[in-house]
Amino acid sequence: MSAPIDCSKVRFAIAAVREAALLTRKVQREMVVDALAKGDKSPVTVADFASQALIGKRLLETFPDVGFVGEESSDALRAEDGAQTLEQITHFVRQIEPDATPEQICDWIDHGAGDATDEFWTLDPVDGTKGFLRGDQYAVALALIRNGKVHVGALGCPELADASRVDKGGGGSLLVARRGNGSWVGSLTDDEAEWQQLSVSDRGMAEEARLLCSVEKAHTDTGGIGLLVKTLGITADPVPMDSQAKYAVLAAGVGDVNLRLISPKMPDYREMIWDQAAGSIVVEEAGGRVTDLDGKPLDFAHGRTLATNRGVLATNGTLHDAVLAGLRQIDA
Ligand code: AMP
Ligand code: MG
Repeated sequence: MSAPIDCSKVRFAIAAVREAALLTRKVQREMVVDALAKGDKSPVTVADFASQALIGKRLLETFPDVGFVGEESSDALRAEDGAQTLEQITHFVRQIEPDATPEQICDWIDHGAGDATDEFWTLDPVDGTKGFLRGDQYAVALALIRNGKVHVGALGCPELADASRVDKGGGGSLLVARRGNGSWVGSLTDDEAEWQQLSVSDRGMAEEARLLCSVEKAHTDTGGIGLLVKTLGITADPVPMDSQAKYAVLAAGVGDVNLRLISPKMPDYREMIWDQAAGSIVVEEAGGRVTDLDGKPLDFAHGRTLATNRGVLATNGTLHDAVLAGLRQIDA
């Protein structure tokens, strides 16, 4: 099926994220089982770098004049003790680019060292690295930022079906959104499958809200989430899920609220732009609302972090003000 939105940037994002996400899945299948037994985290490193190398290469070919801010840099791979990892990355990248050399792969990765200018792409090559290693949710997240706002976002979620159900080893979900053109889900593996438009839930009673949160306790404030649940009288337990897959589920109307409270251990932590860009537009274009914990819009005009925002609150829109009021009450 052709892209749901007729635009070169959208077509690019779909193709690039699909290719990279399928490669990360391959790395996961071939490397993770063995590595986990040894307590080895290298598979996620290999997947991370291979994904950024591929997308970096595609961006260089297709939009050479648009900036690129990626999470990774090749510094560690160019060092002597990075050689073995670089060899593994090269093995996987060559399954798609048979002539790729280790040097070229480092250069493609480092294309992502660009500046956050008026218009640039930003990439999380594997968001949810802990989920990737556990065999849970992870995502490849690519977005185009224009003048501090997300314009296009794409999320590849290999372990999610229809953006809404955990489906390990299934066809996976590919989500795409462009400002003003809605949010869509297709199949990650079947590029002939129909695209479906996504729409957030219409749940308006705070007590009935289905909350999504990080699996990793260090990434949030579990005490604060507990207090908020009590304050708003929410009856269901929060659903833990790794990565921006939470935004996919919210956009599909299966969750109602995604909270990124600030970990008390890291009060000065600011969100990285690639952790929020693609997911936030996918939710907004499905009819939801995304702000920081103070109700301010996310501002992507301050480099690699959301320096002027504190945490993130994403909801179906209907529940947004009630949750913001609850956050003020608990002083989150
Ligand atoms: P999640 O799977 O929702 O927990 O999000 C994973 C992302 O959380 C990773 O990509 C990290 O960049 C980010 N992260 C790391 N440390 C923190 C922190 N202290 N607070 C919030 N997010 C963090
Ligand atoms: Mg991330």
